[in-house]
This record gives sequence, structure tokens and C-alpha cells, in this order.
Amino acid sequence: MPYVGVVLRSHAGGYLVHVSGHGEDREQSHTDSGRVLFCQARGRLKKERVAIVTGDSVEVDEVDEGAGTAVITAQLPRRNLLERPTLANVDQVVIVQAVKQPDFSPLWCDRYLVHFQLELPVSKPVLCFNKCDLVDDFDLETLRSIYEPLGYFVIFVSAVTGAGIEELSMALSGRISVFAGPSGVGKSSILNELSPELDLKTGVMENDFGVGRHTTTASELYRLRLRGDPPTTLTWVADTPGFNLYDFLHPEPKDVAFQFPEIEALKQNCRFTDCLHLVESGCAVLLALQKCEDEDGEAPPALPDGPSPSETISLSRYASYVTLVQESLACKEESRSVSKKVESTVKSVGGEAKAKSIPRLNQRYRFTSRRKEKQDLRNICKTDKERQGGDQAGDESEGDRD
Ligand code: GDP
Ligand code: ZN
Repeated sequence: MPYVGVVLRSHAGGYLVHVSGHGEDREQSHTDSGRVLFCQARGRLKKERVAIVTGDSVEVDEVDEGAGTAVITAQLPRRNLLERPTLANVDQVVIVQAVKQPDFSPLWCDRYLVHFQLELPVSKPVLCFNKCDLVDDFDLETLRSIYEPLGYFVIFVSAVTGAGIEELSMALSGRISVFAGPSGVGKSSILNELSPELDLKTGVMENDFGVGRHTTTASELYRLRLRGDPPTTLTWVADTPGFNLYDFLHPEPKDVAFQFPEIEALKQNCRFTDCLHLVESGCAVLLALQKCEDEDGEAPPALPDGPSPSETISLSRYASYVTLVQESLACKEESRSVSKKVESTVKSVGGEAKAKSIPRLNQRYRFTSRRKEKQDLRNICKTDKERQGGDQAGDESEGDRD
């Protein structure tokens, strides 16, 4: 009879799997708190190249209690799969930012929001602001007034004083959450505060690769034993490496607005449907921005006869929006030039006589690239669609396609 378990991380050519109970009766499995076994994937799974990742639910068999080992016999269907970081079956993402040390950066906060909204569209990220002991309430309320009206669940905590930790516990209990945020904002400190026996190392350290605790992109699930959780409750959290700028997903420039609820709400009233909300010509977003500026300040509170929250936009959010659109445009431009380069390489390899094979070779190239850089691929495909639209008469590949 197989057991079911959750993959905590890969380890020494196998996996550490938290095994919680018999596969036949999953409810029953929650009456014990389980144990961690070192598992190899069954040969068949390896042969079929089934990729097992952290967070996967798996069936295990051939449990050797003494040795603490077992064999993974099947990977159960996934609810979702995040790519960066690679994690399966995530319930929610908690974006952790410090309000100070390092100074709060609205742009980085919004980058994380957009990235994880794209990665896990079914669940709005939770915003956790740490180091609240270092600023006064006014600063916290300013942050709240920006993000709460947009529908984000905002939690203020301090890993030093313990403030807000209980509220955060309640949001995490019984779920699989991802902690994401820049290095040094206090993710490990918060996890230790939530579940002291984790005893994670804290503090930014120097290492051979520069400053920073993390040197790999591997993700690991930690079990949190939250105060207030019954011993059988399984609460999991994945601490993730800090992101570099190129790790973030870029939507199409015109789709960036989807990721900003306040812009999404306003854009119906723009004069042009393809408005990027960057230059004034009947743009409802810029009009709202103007109004907010006139009323002096960021995210003005809704006045009785003033604009409702859905009609306002804070300056910092708009600034993030503009930067993200610019980054998407740049990313698209880069993919376009990569795509061109590939086409010219393939062409020179194939020679004039083999011109007909070019599109197929291109497809093959793109398939590889899909594995490596999913987002790049999206942009490349988009570029090609546009080309097929015929707006680039001078493009050599145009003729090769028919
Ligand atoms: P991580 O890289 O996000 O995991 O951050 P760490 O947990 O390693 O914390 C980075 C630094 O911030 C450490 O020196 C912590 O002591 C400090 N720190 C973490 N949380 C707080 C907090 O709530 N208040 C203050 N004042 N310092 C904190
Ligand atoms: Zn507009």
C-alpha cells in the first residue's frame, strides 16, 4: 500500500520526502505528523523523465523504517507549478519587504507583485512588511493606504519584537506558502520567529560568490510548527533566493496594466484601446494621476465627493508601472534581435538552396529556448506573429514562410 508525501527538496541524487500516511485514506494521514524519508525515484519515472520538484505530491513505497528510505512510485497531479522558483502545489505567495534597512523600495515591491501574479494568478500575493520596529505608525499607514485598497492582504510584522507574527501565523496555517523578497529583509528571521526550532541562519553573509546567503536557486520546503497549530497540522513554507533583475517575468508591454488593479480599473476610459498610459491624449490613467496630484499626495483617501479608491492611483505605483512597461519593451526588443540573429545563423548554415527548411529549424531552436527561457520564447513568438502580420516587408524570413 503506497504512502503519500510531499517533496521537501532534492538531496544527494534523490529527494527528501515528508511522508504523512497511507494513500488509501488521505484524511487519515493527517492524524500523524509524519516523518522525512530519503527517496529515490523508481526507474520507470526516471526513464519517462518525470521531473519531480519541491512541493510535488508523490506516492512512495518500499518504506524501510530502519534506514529511513523509500521509493517514489508516482507523482500525483499538480495543482500548479511555479517556474521561478521551481515549486509545485503552492497555495499562496508572501512577499516580504523591509520598511527600513534596506529602505523600502516601491519599485522592487511591485516587481515582486507582478512576477508572482504572473506565476500564480489564482491567488493574490500577501504583502508582509517587516522591521516595523524601525519606523513609526504613520509610515506604515501610508503603505497600507497604497496596497490595501488594491485588494492585497497587508501584514506588518517585526521579527525583533514579534509584532504581527500571530496574524502572519494565521495566514500560513495549514498551507504551502512561498516567502519571496530581497535578501536581508528578514525572511529567515521571520521564519525563526514563527517556528523557533527551524533555527535558520540569519544575517547577510559574505561568501565566495559575493554578498548574500544564497548561492543556489534550489527551493526547499520547511515545516512550520506554529504556536496554535494542532500537532497534526502541516504548514509549509519555501524560503526563496533573492531575485536578480533578469529573474523577473515580463508581461507584454500592453499587458503590464493587467497586473496593476488600479490601472486596469481606469483604462476602460482611455480614448485608445491600446493605450499604454504613458503619454497624454485622452488617457484616463494620466487624468486620474493629475487629479491625485492636485489633491496633493500619494494615494489620497477617498473624499465624500472625490474620486473613489478605484479611480485613484498613487505616484509610486504609477512610477513602477512606467518602469515595468519600459522593461517589457526593452525585453521585447532584445528578443526580437535574438530572433533575427537566430534566423540569420540558420540561414547561413542551411545555405540559399535549403531556404525552405528555415521555419522548421527555427521552431526547433525555439523549442529548446522554451525550456530555458519561457518568457523569452513568449516574446519571440509574439514578434513572429507580428511579422506574419506582414508589417516588415524587408524581412528575409517573410518570403521563406510561404
Ligand atoms: P533574509 O536574507 O531575508 O533571510 O534576512 P535575515 O533574516 O537574514 O535578516 C537580515 C538582517 O535583518 C539580520 O541582521 C536581522 O537581524 C535583521 N532583522 C530581521 N528582522 C528584523 C526586524 O524585524 N527588525 C529589525 N530591526 N531587524 C531585523
Ligand atoms: Zn491610457
